[in-house]
Amino acid sequence: MEEYDIAIIGSGVTGSATACVLSRYDLRIAVLEKAADVGFGVSKANSGIVHGGFHYPLTTLKGRLEIQGNLMFEKLQYDLDFPFRRCGILVAAFTEEELAIVHKLYLRGVENRVPGIEFCSRERMLALEEKLSSDVMGGLYAPNGGVVEPYRYVFSLSELAKANGAEFFTRYEVVKAVRNQELWELTAVDGRQLRAKWVVNAAGLFADQVSEIFGAEKFRIVPRKGEEYLLDRNSKAYPSKVIFPVPTAHSKGVLVIPTVGGTTMVGPTAEITEDKKDAATTAANMKAIFAMAKNMVPAVSERDLITSFSGSRPSMAGEDFMIAPSEVVPGLIQAAGIQSPGLTASPAVAEYIRDLLKEQGVRMTEKKHLVTSLPQVRMIREASLEEAAALHQENPSWTRIICRCEKISEAEIVNAIRRGHTTVDGIKFYTRAGMGRCQGGFCSYKILKIIARETGMSMEEITKRGRSGNLLFGKITELAEKDEVKS
Ligand SMILES: Cc1cc2nc3c(=O)[nH]c(=O)nc-3n(C[C@H](O)[C@H](O)[C@H](O)COP(=O)(O)OP(=O)(O)OC[C@H]3O[C@@H](n4cnc5c(N)ncnc54)[C@H](O)[C@@H]3O)c2cc1C
Repeated sequence: MEEYDIAIIGSGVTGSATACVLSRYDLRIAVLEKAADVGFGVSKANSGIVHGGFHYPLTTLKGRLEIQGNLMFEKLQYDLDFPFRRCGILVAAFTEEELAIVHKLYLRGVENRVPGIEFCSRERMLALEEKLSSDVMGGLYAPNGGVVEPYRYVFSLSELAKANGAEFFTRYEVVKAVRNQELWELTAVDGRQLRAKWVVNAAGLFADQVSEIFGAEKFRIVPRKGEEYLLDRNSKAYPSKVIFPVPTAHSKGVLVIPTVGGTTMVGPTAEITEDKKDAATTAANMKAIFAMAKNMVPAVSERDLITSFSGSRPSMAGEDFMIAPSEVVPGLIQAAGIQSPGLTASPAVAEYIRDLLKEQGVRMTEKKHLVTSLPQVRMIREASLEEAAALHQENPSWTRIICRCEKISEAEIVNAIRRGHTTVDGIKFYTRAGMGRCQGGFCSYKILKIIARETGMSMEEITKRGRSGNLLFGKITELAEKDEVKS
């Protein structure tokens, strides 16, 4: 049985960021992920906002880590080359009552030392954002807010961790943990086993179940579902800043988001659900979301809708992050209740976990030879004519466009596969192929063929997102012979 210093359960943004930070030290690290790729949990289904740090007081852990995490994004982007833009955030008030709440948010922002935060008049709001409804009465401007591509961010964190020696095991669902002579023996559902001195529980929606496997704290993760609606990149609603309504007790409300990929997104809802796997979106919620979004940005239109998705926030009693060594069992750090702003806070969460491990006596010596940055991810869509010509000279597959909606070339898809992403969704999240107007209608088959060619897998073996998500089941002629296809 292989032995590690630290095993991290879950490779969402929390687990991947933690692996990235810990891989700087002379430690043997294993990241165990039940999905087919990293970031396939809550971390792929969110609003992609780097929050401004004015929603929560500094008395909460999530409030402190949000502010710290926010400040770390430029450096991370410089090193890891993932899409991120500090576009700024507006909170728009449409009534006197809302304006009073926004003023309180502003005062909290000042207390939290949010750089450049402003309480704005109607005129200032309209000057800052031309897409905003002229009914706005005033609001708040936080120039430090931003948008990030959540998938590429998680992929980059895991790539840097791997470059520094962390080992990632996908399709590795931890189902058993036994304490044996100062070590945890972890068993996966398929029988694989490894040992670790320390374990970090970063299992998102399933952190309560993982805690139970260890015989540790009993708590309940309550999924709070959020539906999001994505508009075509030609939508006239694309704002220059993220536009928030006035928040409620449980949610920051329905936002109009200029995604870093150039599309407009509206959402999310906030609904308690019993089912952690519930990923449905509903006509009723869609109607409500569009009504709320149009109230802030009149150019939002259902006619531009290209797809919808939902994700559930892993909330727990107390509504704060629970990041602490287990008080029940030794050798376990709990990172549970990482709901919003978990994406924003992630770089600070990772350092917080590192510091907790240090306090627990884990010796950390920086590696002598450290990889500190990743090579640039080139995209033909962003290349000038001269650059595109040079890329074509280097390899003609750079100008063979596979995804027409998002202008993604064969070379970009091959690059994603060579970086370890071999499901159709893995390619989609890495390159954006299939994220445009036709939602993969034209390119999915071509992508399947490229995956098969590059990996040696048969077309039938390739999945959308792992598990039993196979896309092809065989040739129609052969299935017809076996009477599996009637006509
Ligand atoms: C609708 C919505 C919008 C949001 N918007 C924002 C936003 O704009 N900004 C922001 O800062 N935050 C936002 N959030 C919150 C943010 O997405 C989460 O806080 C964050 O993604 C949580 O990351 P995580 O790594 O803790 O969990 P996850 O990403 O869920 O990762 C946990 C991983 O653990 C794995 N796992 C579970 N059990 C096991 C097991 N037994 N063995 C092995 N692996 C296991 C899972 O497969 C999963 O990949 C939003 C959330 C939602 C739902």
